[in-house]
Amino acid sequence: MDVRTLTVEDPVARHARDGVARLRKQDPELHRLLAREQNRQHETLAMIASASAADASVLACEGTTTNNVTTEGYPGRRYHAGCAVVDEIERMAIERAKAAFGARYANVQPHSGSTANQLVMAALLKPGDTILGMELSAGGHLTHGSAANFSGRYFRSVSYGLGADGLIDYAEVSRLARQHRPRMIICGASAYPRRIDFARFRRIADEVGAYLLADISHIAGLVAAGLHPSPIDAAHFTTTSTYKQLYGPRGGLVLMGRDADAPAPDGRRTLSALVQHAVFPYFQGTPRLNGIAAKARALGIVATPEFRTLATRIVRTAGTLAAELASRGWPILTGGTDNHMVLADVGARGLTGAVAERALESCGIIVNRNRIPGDGKPAQVGGGVRFGTNLLALRGMDESAIVECAALVDRVWTSLVVVDDVEFVLDDAVRSEVRAAVADLCRRYPLPDAA
Ligand SMILES: *Cc1c(COP(=O)(O)O)cnc(C)c1O
Repeated sequence: MDVRTLTVEDPVARHARDGVARLRKQDPELHRLLAREQNRQHETLAMIASASAADASVLACEGTTTNNVTTEGYPGRRYHAGCAVVDEIERMAIERAKAAFGARYANVQPHSGSTANQLVMAALLKPGDTILGMELSAGGHLTHGSAANFSGRYFRSVSYGLGADGLIDYAEVSRLARQHRPRMIICGASAYPRRIDFARFRRIADEVGAYLLADISHIAGLVAAGLHPSPIDAAHFTTTSTYKQLYGPRGGLVLMGRDADAPAPDGRRTLSALVQHAVFPYFQGTPRLNGIAAKARALGIVATPEFRTLATRIVRTAGTLAAELASRGWPILTGGTDNHMVLADVGARGLTGAVAERALESCGIIVNRNRIPGDGKPAQVGGGVRFGTNLLALRGMDESAIVECAALVDRVWTSLVVVDDVEFVLDDAVRSEVRAAVADLCRRYPLPDAA
């Protein structure tokens, strides 16, 4: 591109500006909804453990004309012409992913974390092979072998739960591995507040000749910042979503460390070549190049010292939140947290997860209900609530603000009257009081792009 065009007018900015202007003029109804959603995010206190807010520069990449490039394959080996620039973008995303995680191999094309898991499994396993993953109700993910998911239907799924202390029982994992001889062991969780010992999982996998897949969707930011042990060299394969703790676009990554060049079961290819082939043509078609540009931008941010400061704040605020809720009598699973996640057992005090979630939502506090180990309630009800601090940390909340957040949660939960599993009554005066306090907190600690 001619540099002079850039100095005359930035085409990326013009495109974005024209797009918004046209949207507002030609489709005011949709524009209004988009504006309302943006305001909702600014004005509510989201403590969703699986969420974050992508930087405006990340979302700007999503909205670029890279969306219009249709191709298949990989940089330098595309099936369509016109890819010279997007090849550079994808190579940049790959290099940044490798750098952020100290990986030898990265594939940035997976459309989601779920897809990343599916394609790694599909690359290595045959239908009917045995997999060993964490049980859904213990904190695992659907794609780790749940009966409701493809992974539990196409493979023979065995699952491990938690010990009585709420921690992964590695001796039990080892016993199940020896008994069932899985082809693949899956570790990583959607609701687990403690450190995961990836090296120990690898020893168990090696003992029975299994591949190890580490899914770090929830803790990828902490891993990149060095605040959680990395699975990159411990596991054969590491997968992650990019929109959770990486504050990126919706999408996934597959990463590999020292086993990238290990031979695949067929003895002809390497394991990373197998993954490369599994993403395309086996599982996906065209890459989302605008999403890949957004991943590159998010991974660029992850590599900065500021991101490490944010990650440190995530862990610190979660510790404070757990301690504050516990001090107000709410049982916290495992007694605390090592990461961004806090799991409260609200059933122990007569609430259900659904009631606890909905009552908070009616006051502008956004969390999600979660089944917890030993929970008798169906998934739609649940006996627990899962909190996460990715967004509170992004808002720059310090300890005193987290104390306020915990006090508001406690105020709502101790004020409501439970009608049944999902219905409740909350005094209007309490609701107004908490809503006002939430609005005040959101004003004092705005999301970065509101500044
Ligand atoms: C969220 C999550 C996923 C799924 O990621 P998507 O990108 O939403 O498909 C996979 N694994 C774990 C452990 C998760 O928490």
